[in-house]
Amino acid sequence: MARYRGRRRSYGGYGGYGGYRRRRNPRAILKAVVVLAVVTVCVALIVQSQRLQEAYAQVSQLQQQVASLQTSGGTDAGGADAAQSQPLDYQTLYPEMRVDHTGEFATDVEKAVYLTFDDGPSANTAAILDALAARGQKATFFVTGKNIAGNEALLQRIVNEGHALGIHGYSHDYAQTYASVEAFLEDFHAAYQAVYEACGVYPTMFRFPGGSINAYNRAIYPQVIAEMLRRGFVYYDWNVSGGDADAGALAATIQQTVTQGVTQTSHPIVLLHDVADKASTVEALPGILDELTGLGYYSDRLTPTVRPVTFDYT
Ligand SMILES: [Zn+2]
Repeated sequence: MARYRGRRRSYGGYGGYGGYRRRRNPRAILKAVVVLAVVTVCVALIVQSQRLQEAYAQVSQLQQQVASLQTSGGTDAGGADAAQSQPLDYQTLYPEMRVDHTGEFATDVEKAVYLTFDDGPSANTAAILDALAARGQKATFFVTGKNIAGNEALLQRIVNEGHALGIHGYSHDYAQTYASVEAFLEDFHAAYQAVYEACGVYPTMFRFPGGSINAYNRAIYPQVIAEMLRRGFVYYDWNVSGGDADAGALAATIQQTVTQGVTQTSHPIVLLHDVADKASTVEALPGILDELTGLGYYSDRLTPTVRPVTFDYT
């Protein structure tokens, strides 16, 4: 090829065509460079698209695994493949920390609202319980282990008055809790024990600090979720946020946010807080309960058979 070109070039040099051909060569090179660039871009795009497809396939596979664990309740039957292979080290930690769960969820109940209070117990817990008791309504408390000491009676009251008690971790320190799967299990276990020692109940439900998928657990959430479901626990995110954690949130605004969210959401699971310095939550609660009952709703407690609301993988 090179020799052939060489001959043509030297041949062209003798005649008038030579100059023409010499001027044409840079164009041919330019054309080749452009074609090469286009081909390179195409190849890069194809490779990129293949990588994206692979990544989506992996995410979809993980979603399916978690979905099947969630619907099977993480029983051994649901995780047959995992059971046959060697257990991961963290699967052997705290063997007593597991729940027998049928894996079945009831049909959603129309007009049921699930108010949930995170981060307690606190100086507000009694007032929250009073407002619920006065109206015969039930709720769920996802408690933080570090707040239990000295507040054991409040946990007993939550249980005695027919509300649900779930775990919200021990430290509520996101960086520490989500440092690894083992760190998560250690934190959960500490809360699990603290709740049991305070009121004799081992919770079967929980709420992840910061929700199941957050900025702190991006590297480990599929493993943590899978592990907790494998142990039979049911976790709840939320689909209505009361906004009571926002700085300076007013009771009237919280009430409006909750009512609006509930009326626009099917199977509403509402995030509220039981934190000493969030007085506006307590202030808003009677109005929230009265307005919701006026609209035909009632507040119920979560049980492990209530269909969970969980965040999607993003
Ligand atoms: Zn929290």
